[in-house]
Amino acid sequence: MRQRRRLVIAGSLSLVLIAVAVLVVGYVTGIEPADGSSSAADDEVTPTPRPAPNSLPAPASVDTFDRGARSIDDPMSIWVVVNKLRPVNPQEFEPADLVEVPVEYTNEPELRQEASAAVVAMFDAAFAEAGLELASNSAYRSYSAQENVYDGDDATTARPGFSEHQTGLAIDIGPLSGECSLDPCLADMPEGIWLRDNAWRFGFILRYPADKTPITGYSFEPWHFRYVGTELATEMHDTGVTTLEEFFGLPPAPEYG
Ligand SMILES: [Zn+2]
Repeated sequence: MRQRRRLVIAGSLSLVLIAVAVLVVGYVTGIEPADGSSSAADDEVTPTPRPAPNSLPAPASVDTFDRGARSIDDPMSIWVVVNKLRPVNPQEFEPADLVEVPVEYTNEPELRQEASAAVVAMFDAAFAEAGLELASNSAYRSYSAQENVYDGDDATTARPGFSEHQTGLAIDIGPLSGECSLDPCLADMPEGIWLRDNAWRFGFILRYPADKTPITGYSFEPWHFRYVGTELATEMHDTGVTTLEEFFGLPPAPEYG
């Protein structure tokens, strides 16, 4: 009796371990059940039927994403969250690794090195996959540059020290033709649609979605993309969480504090 109980415990434990291994690895290639032949000999042991590998939930549905892997406060972190309640800190922060972004532009663009490489890859893919030609309309903006950009309308422009553009991780993108550049009508252009659907593959998110103004504090900006890296962009894409505020459990930032 005791032995049987031990077998049951051992059997269940093995199943739990196998299930964990399956979830971590993604599929069961090469994993043999440890209790295979011995539990079959004891017919009082009723093993829990082990689901077939292809009936297991996809690994993406298992929330193993580490939201604390990078800082959301450090302005040099690619996960930094800047909004109306979270100014760039320090106020006149300037990224250390700004480079010129070698793409077409209306205003000569600079971004942090990693974001720049991602923009180049994304523009190349837009052309290779869809024949679309993109241009940068604005990328890094210093604190003092933002002083000139801010037009007093808090729904459409950020106050100096509160702009994501100051992180060197944000870029405004439009068609090379200039049609609908920095205009909501970009959303219905092939360029806007392609960017909306594909930016995540290159580590970008559409930062100010149409339905999230109460959370982001900004009107829909189909042109404004924020680099967060492919790991986070993919997770947000897969989980359908579209704002950094919601993803990191931060309070909505509809207006300045
Ligand atoms: Zn922008």
